[in-house]
Amino acid sequence: MHRPLTELPKAHLHLHFTGAMRHSTLLELAARDGIHLPEALVSAWPPKLTAADEKGWFRFQRLYDVARSVLRTEGDIRRLVREAAEDDVIDGGRWLEIQVGPDGYAARFGGITAFTDLVLDAAREATANTGLPIAVVIAANRTRHPLDARMLARLAAQYAGRGVVGFGLSNDERRGVTEEFGPAFRIARRADLLLVPHGGELVGPANIEACLDLLHADRLGHGVRVVEDPALLDRVAAAGTTLEVCPTSNVALGVYSDLTSVPLPQLLAAGVNVALGADDPLLFGSRLASQYATMRAAHDLSDAQLAELARMSVRGSRAPESVRAQILTDIDTWLAAPPSE
Ligand SMILES: [Zn+2]
Repeated sequence: MHRPLTELPKAHLHLHFTGAMRHSTLLELAARDGIHLPEALVSAWPPKLTAADEKGWFRFQRLYDVARSVLRTEGDIRRLVREAAEDDVIDGGRWLEIQVGPDGYAARFGGITAFTDLVLDAAREATANTGLPIAVVIAANRTRHPLDARMLARLAAQYAGRGVVGFGLSNDERRGVTEEFGPAFRIARRADLLLVPHGGELVGPANIEACLDLLHADRLGHGVRVVEDPALLDRVAAAGTTLEVCPTSNVALGVYSDLTSVPLPQLLAAGVNVALGADDPLLFGSRLASQYATMRAAHDLSDAQLAELARMSVRGSRAPESVRAQILTDIDTWLAAPPSE
């Protein structure tokens, strides 16, 4: 017997904008505009992916770009955010930090500032409709020029305290030089944004070290491969850096062969803060509560351990103190109730 994981209150710290779209919405919007979708996004969905090589990552990125191309109107953006919020609420989500690279949408939505305004307004609207507080992380793309990242960091800084809480760095870790993004992260740091680059998924400990030393990361997108370096594992644990671990993403991209190989028990045993996230439900076919469910099944986690994972997601977030306190209280209530399933 155990407690239902959709009722476990939790924060969601790793969710990408287009990747948050419902599959049914993707199909509907593509049909509306006569956009041809590849089979991997229709009958063969969720797609079989592996990013073990650059060709695999290219395929993943191409599917992501096709999915983004169905977002054509303001209404589409508002709908995506509202549905993402509704889905997180169903999954016990109580705080959401959604990650977006405005440069990928700028051409269609009147520039990066206009698009950011739209996303923030969509987030406020979704919060009003669902009750889920939503914050935005602006993410630069490491396959683009570091000057683009600086421009996005300045944009994020302008919105600090007005809906934007963090600055990230996404896309293929094997591309670009982490150090060259240092100036962008310094801009974000001066604005007191959370620094949340991706690191330690497609590349091992070397990039985690670079993200910590050169970008001063507060959290790491993924970071799971820290287990490959015991000294670095201790360092991450001691520093209290939160790792945004996305188990189904790791397996879908071929970082681990199966869910039992995702090294969550090693991370927990070392005392590392872990916040489970869905990354891109649209491409990986599973949402927030499923990450907890798959880790429970794969590693035989107790409800007390799952509650602690939920607490760590809250502690690693930028949720205001009153929100954090309420979620933490409700996690205790969840754990104190008798198992019901
Ligand atoms: Zn990600």
